[in-house]
Amino acid sequence: ERERLLHIAPHLVFPLPLTLPIYDYHRRGALTIRAGMVAYDILSWNKTLPRHRMYSRAGALAHEPGLNPHGLKAAARYYDAQIVFPERLSVENMLDAVALGAVVRNRARVDDLILEAGVIRGVRFEDEATGERLTARGRTLVNVAGPWVDRVLGEAGIEPLANPLLGVTKGTHIVVEPFPGAPSDALYIEAKTDGRPYFVIPWNSLYLIGTTDDRYTGDLDRVVPTEDEVAYLLNETNIAIPDANLNRDSVCYAYAGLRPLPHQRGGSESAITRRHIVHDHAPKVYGLLSIVGGKLTTYRNLSEQTVDKVGDLLGVKLPRSTTGTEPLPGAPDSPGAFSRDFHRTRPGWLSARSASYLVSIYGSRASAVVDLAEREASLREVVSPATGLIAAAVVFSFTDEQAATLTDAVMRRTMIGYAADAGFGALDGVARAVSQGLGWDDARIAHELAAHREYMTRFLPRALEYADSEAPAGNYSSYVRHGAVTAN
Ligand SMILES: Cc1cc2nc3c(=O)[nH]c(=O)nc-3n(C[C@H](O)[C@H](O)[C@H](O)COP(=O)(O)OP(=O)(O)OC[C@H]3O[C@@H](n4cnc5c(N)ncnc54)[C@H](O)[C@@H]3O)c2cc1C
Repeated sequence: ERERLLHIAPHLVFPLPLTLPIYDYHRRGALTIRAGMVAYDILSWNKTLPRHRMYSRAGALAHEPGLNPHGLKAAARYYDAQIVFPERLSVENMLDAVALGAVVRNRARVDDLILEAGVIRGVRFEDEATGERLTARGRTLVNVAGPWVDRVLGEAGIEPLANPLLGVTKGTHIVVEPFPGAPSDALYIEAKTDGRPYFVIPWNSLYLIGTTDDRYTGDLDRVVPTEDEVAYLLNETNIAIPDANLNRDSVCYAYAGLRPLPHQRGGSESAITRRHIVHDHAPKVYGLLSIVGGKLTTYRNLSEQTVDKVGDLLGVKLPRSTTGTEPLPGAPDSPGAFSRDFHRTRPGWLSARSASYLVSIYGSRASAVVDLAEREASLREVVSPATGLIAAAVVFSFTDEQAATLTDAVMRRTMIGYAADAGFGALDGVARAVSQGLGWDDARIAHELAAHREYMTRFLPRALEYADSEAPAGNYSSYVRHGAVTAN
């Protein structure tokens, strides 16, 4: 699946070299790790990524000089792949589905399933933008609500919440700027305090450090990193890379998510299977499938299995899936050649930095964003000083990518909310973009900015000045702590 993703989305998925340092206090020594690496290469024998290599202690330190030398025995280096922005992968799958005839509704909250004599007939849902209550009818239904799968079933009275399919675990990451001793590869490290594996990953011009893995029974709609989790990740990174000297102020923002894993009573979190299950609710309910578990890496394979199962339920023979070979909408034939060409032919008003950011987010669809700004000069403004994103991209989120809210545009389309300033330095420009490009009035802008600011509190962003929470909407640079980011 990793090879397929590298092929169908080469603008979003990139090879990622990882170094795994081996210390004298680790449970597994160099020989065991080497055996694992050989097995990994054999199991992925037809990959295009380079095979593993082992380093001696001296070799490991030459390769990653920031590593803690105390107790270091050796290191292994291997390749995986990184999806920089999983949200973009979701958006492009959605756009592809729409282009092929699917009807996709954003902000549609399902709160009831329509059943007739034990057979599924459709769903009732609320359009959260308008408050309208609607129904969608169909002969099969796939519940893909991730961590919310049990809630959908519980609300419809199909499975009691006391008998869950899922047992979610919480994972927290922190994001920091490049720091002394920061690795050039991603590091796969065994934590010194509890032996858990975690990663320090070069990501989005920053470093992503995580994750934790703990069973979670709290509010599914608001998952917030705890200060203990942040401190644990900072502490472990400072042990692994002594020059890092990271402290709480180093954290640009943190975030937490829930893994929708199959329910498993007791045992350690790391022992819970990461396999997915396409759960058929027959004979209790016919025509209903729930997806339990599933990794992002295997989303395509899981989707193929699910569609095949739907074909079985409908009694139709579906054509062979082409999702493993058909590129996603923004995939250029040759990413390198496309990027060079895009830079060479870019208009004078578009900086090289902005051009690079657009290509990194939209792939070959970056041209459509530039076309929009060519037609409307006010949309050429750089709204995000941290990334170089232009106003046209904000408008494009709504006109071409089904964004429904300002938070959708910032966090799930343009991705500027994941820059070091968590997007706060961009909010004034974003407000101008939706006003000029989409005709939003002041009341809507103020409402959306306030909702966005409230949403962002779960990221514990450094740039958000809580003391300044009474600042008027439209003056968001005052939410940026003085000197923390470039205020626009
Ligand atoms: C910390 C962490 C690290 C991870 N690392 C990796 C990794 O390295 N590699 C990897 O492959 N995977 C990783 N994963 C797993 C991966 O992120 C998940 O498996 C994947 O996101 C699950 O996708 P999903 O579509 O099933 O669920 P989600 O992405 O959660 O989507 C479910 C959707 O359903 C919607 N929904 C919920 N209720 C309703 C309703 N009533 N009506 C309508 N819509 C509803 C939600 O709004 C949401 O959009 C990680 C997960 C976490 C939390």
